[in-house]
This record gives sequence, structure tokens and C-alpha cells, in this order.
Amino acid sequence: MSSEAPRSAPRVYDTVILGGGIAALWTANVLKNAGHSILVLTNSPLGQGQSLAAQGVIHGGLKYAVGGKLTDSSEALAAMPARWLAALRGEGPVDLSGARLLSDHQVMWSLPGVVSRTVSFFGSKALRGRSAAIAREEYPAVFDTAAYKGKLFRIDEPVVDPVSVLRELGQGVAEETQLIEWGKNATIQSAEGQITSLTLREDSGAVVPVIAARYLLSAGADNSTLLTEIGLSHPAMQLRPLHQLILRKRGLPDFFSVCVGTGPKPPLVSTTHVDREGRTVWYIGGNIAEQEGVARDEADQIAAGQALFEKVMPWIDLSDAEWFTWRGNRAEPLTSTGDRPPGAFCERIGNVLVAWPTKFALAPDLADQVLRASEKASAGSNPPLSLPRPTLGKAPWDLP
Ligand SMILES: Cc1cc2nc3c(=O)[nH]c(=O)nc-3n(C[C@H](O)[C@H](O)[C@H](O)COP(=O)(O)OP(=O)(O)OC[C@H]3O[C@@H](n4cnc5c(N)ncnc54)[C@H](O)[C@@H]3O)c2cc1C
Repeated sequence: MSSEAPRSAPRVYDTVILGGGIAALWTANVLKNAGHSILVLTNSPLGQGQSLAAQGVIHGGLKYAVGGKLTDSSEALAAMPARWLAALRGEGPVDLSGARLLSDHQVMWSLPGVVSRTVSFFGSKALRGRSAAIAREEYPAVFDTAAYKGKLFRIDEPVVDPVSVLRELGQGVAEETQLIEWGKNATIQSAEGQITSLTLREDSGAVVPVIAARYLLSAGADNSTLLTEIGLSHPAMQLRPLHQLILRKRGLPDFFSVCVGTGPKPPLVSTTHVDREGRTVWYIGGNIAEQEGVARDEADQIAAGQALFEKVMPWIDLSDAEWFTWRGNRAEPLTSTGDRPPGAFCERIGNVLVAWPTKFALAPDLADQVLRASEKASAGSNPPLSLPRPTLGKAPWDLP
């Protein structure tokens, strides 16, 4: 950035938030609604990393309990469905009344041969009334066939539409959110592992110093790049890849489900969406999208998905469905086992807060942690910055 450019007076904020996914935007809304002055800086369309690729399942922990009894980590998730449902009703610190609830529950079903395991799991005291058997006459259309021999259970874990969630959260902090390009119109100044200031260059060419009491790194997989730039080697990050399956066909029935197989992880987890042309999309994660699925190329992953559906749901006609896949990484703090961390993660290092929600569902928990680590200090408001605004990103099935 040229030192000859006109220099504006510094803007001073309580918190500058680097990121534009669920972590940054949920937290930004919470801080703003608590009266903190904030600035959100993103280098890409909102949610375009992991958040718009999420299935939108607001886990309460049951999926993780399938492989054994309820664990501490599943307990950490237990409060999330109620908090999200409150936000969707417009209650609580974040207003998601304009976002879409795709389903208020999921169906848990079993592969042939594992029915007794499912029944005993759902009969266990550990579930504490968080699920119930579904009577045959109430089976959803996708299972309403004599060909399905298993049992169905309802689990009260809602599924939200990530696109509408990100849109609503983005609107809540639209005035405070700017699109930047590091190295072009934004730079970070740091010393000894602390951010001393940011420098932004407005569309007019004016250079604006930005100073904050704290800087929240909530840029998903890019947190590690930002940490390196600041000179911090801790906290370390891990990436856990996924190779999701996408099936598209007009008129597919709703399919919000967790499948129980013989292993500790569900063989498949399904959610249902609608693409920009109104076609129904089944979005498939779960074990098929994990290690073995990641090792497959797109054609082999599709073949594996087709074989699985022919085996477990032969009554569904997918002959003219369009199949494709989406690859990406879950970005999280490093764990000793490489497994999923137990809850939302936020660590403070001086004036830097490093955050990974570890789950879309855990954004409220992350925002609580950031709020607890943040004092409201600055008085007055900053004049608006003359920088571009980010657009909303796209779901995997609407990407070009
Ligand atoms: C396929 C898939 C399915 C999933 N399904 C679920 C689910 O059903 N339920 C659930 O609870 N969790 C789910 N997850 C996990 C969940 O999506 C993530 O935990 C969560 O979205 C992470 O959000 P984030 O804001 O930390 O990161 P991201 O969503 O990756 O957002 C990072 C954002 O930061 C911005 N950014 C990036 N780099 C920079 C930079 N250098 N400077 C400034 N800004 C930057 C961009 O706007 C980017 O969008 C899923 C994950 C994947 C990959």
C-alpha cells in the first residue's frame, strides 16, 4: 500500500472478526447485540468455506452415541437443538426468524441385519426421552414400503438450511461486514504474536488504520495461515476431509436420516435440499464420505453411492438421478487422536482469539465463549468504511 495515499483517522473497535462463515457471523451478531463495536472482514463470499457445505444438522449428540453410550462430547451438544429452535423463533441473542427449518427431526433407520442393535440402543436409558419409535402408519414417504423391514426412530435433532442461516446472520451485521483482499486492500501488522493493527485501503485510495481490543480469527481452514502471518505456532489445526455425495432429481421425497450399520459411524447421513432450479437434492454424508470415500475419485465415489442405495433402498428409483460429489475439509483444532474435538474451541493469546466451532451446530457455544472473553470498551461509533460488501456464497449443488 502506498504511503503517499491520504491517511484517515484510525477506526477503533472492541473486536475485529476475521472470517465470514457460521463462526464469524453468529459471533458477530451476538457481540453486536450485546453492544460491542465490531468489524467483520472476509476475503470471500459469506459461508463459502465449510458452512454452506454443511448438511445443516443441529446435532444434539445422538449420532455420536450410536457407536456406544452417550459421551461427554455428545453431552456438550445436547443444548444446541433448543438454542437453534429458539433463534429460529426469533428468540434469544441471534434472530434467525427469516431462516428456514428444513425438518424439525431426523429419522434413524437400520441396515438389514442390525435391527436388534438399533432397538436396544433406542431402548437404553441414556437417551432420556430424546427419541421415540415411529409407528408404521406414520412412516415418512421414503420408507413407506413393505420392502423396508427395519424399524424407524425419530430423533429430535432439527435440520436447518445453511444458506438461509448465513443470509440472515449476514444481514444482521451487513453494515459491519466488508470484503477485503489481503495484500491488496488489507494488511495485518503484528509483533511478538500479537496483532498491533490492520491497515485497510478504501475504494477512494484512502488508507485507514484499524485498531481493536481483540482480533477474532474465525476463518476456518485459513486460521492457520493467519496464525502464521501473526507469528503464532499455536493452536495447531487439523483438517478432516470429506467426499460428500449429491443426488439430484425432481420429486424425490424428503429424506432426513441417520442410518445405523454395524460400525461405530453411521454408514450414511442424509439431508434434503432444493437447488436454484427447484430440483430436489439428497445430500449424503456419514461414513461413505469419510476415509474410504475420500480415497475414491468422483466416479468411484458415485459408483459406491449407487451400490449402497441399491442395497439398502432398492425401492427408490434413482435411475435418472444426476449424481455428483463435493470435496472439502473440516477445519478444527488438532486433537491427539485426530478425531473430532469434543466441543467448540476458543483460545485467547493476548489480543488474539482463535476459534473453530468444530460443528455448525456449536456456533452458539462458540459465541458464548467469545463473549465471555470480551469486554465492551470503545465509546462512540465509527464512520462507515468505503469498501466492497461480500456476497452470499452458494451451496455445493448451486456452484457452477
Ligand atoms: C461436508 C460438511 C458437512 C457438514 N455438516 C455439518 C452438519 O450437518 N452439522 C454441523 O453441525 N456441522 C457440520 N459440518 C461442520 C461445519 O460445517 C463447520 O464446523 C463450520 O461450518 C465451520 O465454520 P467456520 O465459520 O469456522 O468456517 P467456514 O465455514 O469455513 O468459514 C470460513 C470463512 O472465513 C472467511 N475467510 C476464509 N479465509 C479468510 C481470510 N484469510 N481472511 C478473512 N476471512 C477469511 C470466508 O468467508 C469463509 O467462508 C460439516 C462440514 C462439512 C465440510
